[in-house]
Amino acid sequence: MIPAKPKATAKRPPAKRPRRAADPARQWAAHLRRYRPGLVPYVLDGLAARYGEQHWERRLDPVSELILTILTQNTADTNAEKAFEALRAAYPSDRAPEAHTPGLGWGGAGLTTAAPPDWTLVEHAPLPELVDVIRPGGLAPQKAPRVQATLQRIREERGAYDLEFLADLPVLEARAWLTAIDGIGKKTASIVLAFCFGMPVMAVDRHVERVSKRIGLIPDKATADQAHDLYLALVPPERMYEAHVLLIHHGRAICHAQSPAHDICPVRDRCRMVDRKAP
Ligand code: SF4
Repeated sequence: MIPAKPKATAKRPPAKRPRRAADPARQWAAHLRRYRPGLVPYVLDGLAARYGEQHWERRLDPVSELILTILTQNTADTNAEKAFEALRAAYPSDRAPEAHTPGLGWGGAGLTTAAPPDWTLVEHAPLPELVDVIRPGGLAPQKAPRVQATLQRIREERGAYDLEFLADLPVLEARAWLTAIDGIGKKTASIVLAFCFGMPVMAVDRHVERVSKRIGLIPDKATADQAHDLYLALVPPERMYEAHVLLIHHGRAICHAQSPAHDICPVRDRCRMVDRKAP
């Protein structure tokens, strides 16, 4: 019997590798480099010439920075200072006093030098009591439970109120650890990482967003959430801290929401709000 011919196996075309989706932040950075070359250093150098060079310095321990930043949400920094001082007074600890060196990016007068609050007492305080304590900061009924939930999460995950371990994580992992906590967005997380550890992340608040869109550093339609990642592609890591501090200060000092003072602006020549075709 003649053996049956083995069936010819149809040749399969080589499997196509899935194409990696283009990263919109990198695309935007490339677009800007091509059509508006040198814009980022022009803006940072211009602002630094006006407001002074900015150098990183830790301003608080990371847990204090995180709680203070929660207290600043949707309120002025001066109100957050009042609420944080009230926490220190109501729940004193015997820890070493810490100085608050807020620098240019902070909108308040700075905290007094004092020990951080006793976080165990803050976490376990009766909620109505904590609401009363931080009431001078505004939005206390929303913030008090957020503060307690944040402290609880840190204690449960780390066994202590201690965030120093974040320094050893890659920057985006550190940001993801913080944003996994309810009520902590990229802005709050980035403030903690940038100011406590000097990590190259950009905290985009309303000032940074407004100034950036007016100049054309980020697209007009970008959301604040997207803007955080646009900046990671746009600004070299070693200039990220100063970029945040300078842009936020420029928004407060000259590029006001209403009536920006274009005439005295150091980056006017390349601002798209003043000239839609600015280079
Ligand atoms: S020129 Fe005007 S809008 Fe543009 S950055 Fe300066 S102050 Fe802001």
